[in-house]
Amino acid sequence: MEIACLDLEGVLIPEIWINFAEKTGIEELKATTRDVPDYDVLMKQRLRILNEHGYGLPDIQAVISELSPMEGAAEFLNWLRERFQVVILSDTFYEFGMPFMKQLGYPTLLCHKLEVDENGKVTDYKLRQANPKRQAVIGFHSMYYRTIATGDSYNDTAMLAEADAGILFKSPDNVIAEFPQYPAVHTYEDLKKEFIKASNRDLSL
Ligand SMILES: [Mg+2]
Repeated sequence: MEIACLDLEGVLIPEIWINFAEKTGIEELKATTRDVPDYDVLMKQRLRILNEHGYGLPDIQAVISELSPMEGAAEFLNWLRERFQVVILSDTFYEFGMPFMKQLGYPTLLCHKLEVDENGKVTDYKLRQANPKRQAVIGFHSMYYRTIATGDSYNDTAMLAEADAGILFKSPDNVIAEFPQYPAVHTYEDLKKEFIKASNRDLSL
């Protein structure tokens, strides 16, 4: 059997921090793993900026409540779940991700957790484990699952490398140029074709 490992933000849903930055007008919050490859550095920066501006979890959740998965994401996910066991491996937090899971039919989501005080202030975050996306693929391999992974950014490349096949989806040019070993596609239709190509089973669209 094969497991499809999907990144979440930039693949199925919009970038949460970018949307929050646009809503609040805080330019500095637009940085993502595309700009700052070290996730710990990026998150410490985000929490510092949030606290400096007095924003808490309820403010971010208010923005999230107005967002939807990317157009075609739910249909793509249903297509994939008919053909693969699907696990979403994300560097987001359950506090951000769960509203989207409802809209996507509650697929399995492995991600991180925030620490929030009684006033809604985000005080810290708990990473599920170090190198979480890569470790998940290693775990699936230990159970003798073949894995095919897709993601858009730097925080996905260790997962892509560990997987039996990796696919870049909607990646910016710099990521595509840096990782030419992976096919790079930009539409769900093309992504379906790449999954079929990467599978060792005889699948069809
Ligand atoms: Mg992403």
